[in-house]
Amino acid sequence: MEPHISPTKQLLRWILRQFRDLDGYLSTFASKLFPTEYQIQGTCKKRGVCCHQIAIHLSKGFWRVPTLRKLSRNYYELVYNFSLVKEESDIQVQVFRCNYIQPDGQCGIYTRRPHICRNYPQARYFGRPTFLPGCGYSTVRTKDT
Ligand code: SF4
Repeated sequence: MEPHISPTKQLLRWILRQFRDLDGYLSTFASKLFPTEYQIQGTCKKRGVCCHQIAIHLSKGFWRVPTLRKLSRNYYELVYNFSLVKEESDIQVQVFRCNYIQPDGQCGIYTRRPHICRNYPQARYFGRPTFLPGCGYSTVRTKDT
């Protein structure tokens, strides 16, 4: 559900979503050009669990500055319509839930969902990808070290 926000915030949200989507297209293109050493396998079980526990990793330098952490929170709340659930300082992660998730676990904006959702799960360039318990996806390593 979309919360009521002022016309100014609506405009800001619209502008930031254009940059977000451009970044999403470019990231998708880059991941096709430069695949990681892990290949995703499996299928989505359509439970919506990942929409309730969206982990956003921040760099250590970013995490140390409260204003930047707040900026990250405000960004995901405004642009993605997420709500902060908790912060995990030891791993520099902000955990959000999405306000578009429906009671039946389906996405309320499926055809216009952002790239972060379309590409989930996307193997990161550094470190072994991890998945939420019960997720239908896993990874296989495609290259030797
Ligand atoms: S936009 Fe849809 S797919 Fe993405 S987190 Fe929200 S409910 Fe899930």
